Amino acid sequence: MKLVAVSKFHPNEDIIEAYDAGQRRFGENRPQEFCKKVQELPKDIEWHFIGHLQTNKLKMVLPYASLVQSVDTQHLLDAVNEWGRDNGKVINVLLELHIGAEETKQGFVEEDILDILFRAESYRNIRFCGLMGMATHTDCEEDIRADFCRISSFMDYLKDLFPEYEDFKELSIGMSEDWHLALEYGATIVRIGTAIFGPRA
Ligand SMILES: *Cc1c(COP(=O)(O)O)cnc(C)c1O
Repeated sequence: MKLVAVSKFHPNEDIIEAYDAGQRRFGENRPQEFCKKVQELPKDIEWHFIGHLQTNKLKMVLPYASLVQSVDTQHLLDAVNEWGRDNGKVINVLLELHIGAEETKQGFVEEDILDILFRAESYRNIRFCGLMGMATHTDCEEDIRADFCRISSFMDYLKDLFPEYEDFKELSIGMSEDWHLALEYGATIVRIGTAIFGPRA
């Protein structure tokens, strides 16, 4: 299981403190902040991009992100693939599945993801590494479990369907409030901010 320390809104000093304690994997959700921190902080940090990414901001993120966790539209996926082609890079991505109850949450539905993976070979500059999801923001454990169960079952289904996609193995679910549940559903990546850095300003 990989821990992504979500450092968004927190200053470099806080990141350095976690770095000195041994943490090397950090996540940010705003391109400008991501890009600035990448320049200013140690070069052996593995940076994950976890937020909504607009196609006009790709160059702030794609050169530096070891994983873009939050590809949530066909348009973005196409643009990332094109950027990769133009820059001679293969970009590691997770496809974000919409699982939470909130209408505002980003993400694909299952059919979209199936459709993309059936055409995966045509995305020559994308490496499909798995799924990301955010459970409903609620105190109701049963609702959170239902969301995690849905994405976890879908992940298993995809792995059975596409055994040849060996890189497609990461399941990024679980945040400060629900990571302990996410582990029960096969999380391979958890994204934790508040529980590490405290509340965001
Ligand atoms: C902010 C954020 C997190 C971390 O949330 P916490 O509740 O502070 O742990 C995880 N994932 C995404 C996509 C986020 O935007």
